[in-house]
Amino acid sequence: MSEKQSTSPANVTTADSLITTPVRVGVLGFGGLGQAAARVLAPKHEMSWVAAADQKGYAYNAAGLNPDACIATYASQGSLGYLEPTGTLSNHSISDLIEQASVDGYFLALPNLPNTFMASVARQFIQAGWQGVLVDALKRTSAVEQLLELQAELQAAGITYMTGCGATPGLLTAAAALAAQSYAEIHQVKITFGVGIANWEAYRATIREDIAHLPGYDVERARAMSDAEVEALLEKTNGILSLENMEHADDVMLELAGICPRDRVTVGGIVDTRNAKKPLSTNVQVTGRTFEGKISTHTFTLGDGTSMAANVCGPAFGYLKAGVSLHQRGIYGLFTAAEVMPQFVK
Ligand code: NAD
Repeated sequence: MSEKQSTSPANVTTADSLITTPVRVGVLGFGGLGQAAARVLAPKHEMSWVAAADQKGYAYNAAGLNPDACIATYASQGSLGYLEPTGTLSNHSISDLIEQASVDGYFLALPNLPNTFMASVARQFIQAGWQGVLVDALKRTSAVEQLLELQAELQAAGITYMTGCGATPGLLTAAAALAAQSYAEIHQVKITFGVGIANWEAYRATIREDIAHLPGYDVERARAMSDAEVEALLEKTNGILSLENMEHADDVMLELAGICPRDRVTVGGIVDTRNAKKPLSTNVQVTGRTFEGKISTHTFTLGDGTSMAANVCGPAFGYLKAGVSLHQRGIYGLFTAAEVMPQFVK
């Protein structure tokens, strides 16, 4: 034990000391992010991955699921329901899993298609009488606003729900909230992301939801597109999606956290669906006026070697851990990534 640790007062309860047994974690959605989440969790000893669901089935093993076996089964047969011996095929995989599994917290790595889907999943948890921590990586302002309407119900149900806890919204929104502290007034928060993925099919929902932001498209139109139509669109753009002035919940989250009005927050970026290399470095710039009257800009830039999956799943579990410590203290309801610090999961 280091000198620093040994001199810390014995009566201080740290977030870490509250977590004595591994947090039992479930992942809903087993596409690009869900599978990455399983890999992120594998080396962690504070969390144990015990449950996962996709559209056609689920797998539950109280002793822990094996990521390799789950990913191989999903790739070859299209559902975790085929996993031997712990998989179950179901057309109501989420509600069945809620009922069957003992889980402390779920990461909702689900498509938000239609735009009301995540809020309907939250309602399912409330109606089932489930108690615990939920974390999402929702993107749209209007989707987070639907969850805000569930605040009182979540609180009454004993659910601690962490919303907007991916990369953007998520890591970058939290960075903006931190950077804002140097200023007396925030003039602009500008988020610019670069995403490189080798193959769009690994992240179908992410790409469809991004297409929904292009001029002439909306969520319903993007949802209705066949895979062939998505491919035809990407063929025309050489695999690139250029996105500007997106409806991104970073704005409502920073407004709720009291940082700045939402119209001062802009989000845009470039997604290359044919190249794992990022087309540009993801960053957030926070411009404001200091108490001395100086105008300045803080820039927080993500390392180019960090993938979208690393920048979404890492924060999602960091916020899950933070949510667990809130839940253990009887603090329930809805929180955003801009108002709570994520905690590092060991
Ligand atoms: P994906 O298309 O790769 O996988 C979706 C998974 O959800 C599949 O396993 C599918 O079977 C499952 N699913 C669909 N409907 C279901 C249902 N009714 N019940 C159970 N399972 C169901 O998705 P993805 O590309 O990994 O994206 C997941 C979400 O993450 C998207 O909404 C995306 O916008 C979001 N995302 C957020 C950020 C961020 O920074 N905040 C970044 C990237 C992606």
